[in-house]
Amino acid sequence: MKKLKIIKYEHPLLRRKSRELKDAGPRERELISAMAHTMYAAPGCGLAAPQAGVLERLFVADIDYDRDDPNSERRLRVFINPEILWESDDDEPMKEGCLSIPGIEGEIFRPSRIRVRARDENFEPFELEAEELLARVIMHETDHLDGILFVDRMARLKRSLLTVKLGKLRRDTMYDLYTGREETNYPVLIA
Ligand code: ZN
Repeated sequence: MKKLKIIKYEHPLLRRKSRELKDAGPRERELISAMAHTMYAAPGCGLAAPQAGVLERLFVADIDYDRDDPNSERRLRVFINPEILWESDDDEPMKEGCLSIPGIEGEIFRPSRIRVRARDENFEPFELEAEELLARVIMHETDHLDGILFVDRMARLKRSLLTVKLGKLRRDTMYDLYTGREETNYPVLIA
């Protein structure tokens, strides 16, 4: 299967609001397969349609897959037209990265638990309560559908550092912009 091209930071399509899907037919299923293939190959634990230049409210995620082991068990989750119905009041830090912003990571504060409503690959509605990494990937990907990138959620000072760093971005270098450390106890979300 052909990998989709992931568009990168500063591409204008990453800043647009995506439209809702009316159905999930053969075309959508083909897109979902291609997105899953691209996510696993990246590798990442989530990929939103706008990252492939498609402005539709759809993302795929797999938090069970071990990115260091290509033969590990997979559990693909598909979210069409996701709506976050509820968020917990707390704010927890977790290090995030984005396939559209290669080489950049930052510690982002978000609620630890959410409730989401969406449709699956058969366009069947479902509701899900999620926490920790799964909640995180759902929020990160839902942001993509609204043209929001994780760097937008960094504190202003850290963002201004990021602007400088992005200008000098080297693909193979991982920066921890928030703490200046390369090691962290948090799982790193790349989505
Ligand atoms: Zn992302």
